[in-house]
Amino acid sequence: MTPSVAEALARTLALVPELPAEPVALAQARGRVLRQEVCADRPQPAFDRAAMDGFALRAADATTVPCTLPVAFEVRAGQWPELALPVGALARIMTGAPVPSGADAVVPVERTRVLPAGGLGAEELRSRRSPHGTGAGLRPALEPDGLVVIEARVEPGQHVAPRGSEVVAGDRLLSPGRRLDAAALAVLASVGVSRPLVGRRPRVALLVTGDEIVAIDAMPGPAQIRNSNGPAVAALAEEAGAEVIDLGTAPDDAAALERAIARGLAEADVVITSGGVSAGDYDLVEPVLLRLGVALDITRVAVKPGAPLVVGHRGACLVFGLPGNPVSAQVTFDLFVRPALLRMQGARELARPRLFARASAAFTNRSGRENHVPARVRFDAAGVHVRPLRSQGSGDLCAHARANAVVVLDPARTAVAAGETVPCWLLPEFEADDGEEA
Ligand code: AMP
Ligand code: MG
Repeated sequence: MTPSVAEALARTLALVPELPAEPVALAQARGRVLRQEVCADRPQPAFDRAAMDGFALRAADATTVPCTLPVAFEVRAGQWPELALPVGALARIMTGAPVPSGADAVVPVERTRVLPAGGLGAEELRSRRSPHGTGAGLRPALEPDGLVVIEARVEPGQHVAPRGSEVVAGDRLLSPGRRLDAAALAVLASVGVSRPLVGRRPRVALLVTGDEIVAIDAMPGPAQIRNSNGPAVAALAEEAGAEVIDLGTAPDDAAALERAIARGLAEADVVITSGGVSAGDYDLVEPVLLRLGVALDITRVAVKPGAPLVVGHRGACLVFGLPGNPVSAQVTFDLFVRPALLRMQGARELARPRLFARASAAFTNRSGRENHVPARVRFDAAGVHVRPLRSQGSGDLCAHARANAVVVLDPARTAVAAGETVPCWLLPEFEADDGEEA
């Protein structure tokens, strides 16, 4: 029996080997899959940190406002305050600077007014050493800075991020399987991991097949078409973290297919072909794979578009024979190849972002298969809406390029009325709909 999408995916993932981990420079790590645990090497913040530019003080010294207090010294970001804050005084402080001992709040500069007058004497300040010790040779500014009027109420703790309030030393911050995005790279940098361990990039050999296919910059003859699957599948593979080996285009000829696929099997972790897997007389990919010793684990899936999908393996090398129809090729890549590539690198999350949306027009599914319908998702005050795109089917690559999501209708869901809720998979370059007819 033809396997369902879920069954075929489970069978595919069972074939996936995990590639070894390797250290990479942080600058090359975006999109890679983390393969180590990352813990905090020290608390964050590492000191009581001022969250605003302004004045540090004891909240108890400003219980009635407005009040006027003298400025004792200044603390800049990067500077350790060697002096404790004298009772009844302020320290001018910058965002990111350590709050001096004695102070428990920061008043933003916008809530103050500076009066042009003298502050505490430098002698008096020097006599009040901070319990923090001498710091790293940084010298607090000792120049008194006049008097400052505090104009707003001060709560203890305001605009101070206490030491260890975000993270304590030893906290687990990232775990293996996390795909490294900007936020994760920031965490790695903050704890000094300059060469994280990540899964090796899968090598994907890509072969486009078909007598009718010509290069992008060639003028197609009357019965020819340009190779649009090559760039699309290569882009999807790279987006999933792979390195692409281009095997070029082969005609529908067994010997030519065999040569190209044999090279892919020898050089790559994954071989992907496009075209030549349906029921036509010149669909030769399956017999060629068999001749090359590839076990064919899946030869059809109950999915629309893309039923004639082939998944096989030879040793640790996986083979995907994608259908040639452009929408089928892209949809089946997303359903089976992308999760396999991510799993190979050790990723935890294998699926595209999903959400439920309210259908703003009817959807139908008379295919008896799980139907993946190109659609547009739109957000507005009433919620998330989705509508199907006019499409001529699995060859309509232009309709697919207007989609920002794919609506998934299971085989039993033959009709969806406007107003019902449907599951949507968001496509990689998701752009929220502006409501224009696409
Ligand atoms: P096939 O899977 O070989 O039967 O091809 C199915 C349809 O996809 C046919 O209309 C092909 O012309 C088309 N097709 C196959 N390969 C490509 C490609 N690389 N780029 C665009 N269309 C293709
Ligand atoms: Mg063909």
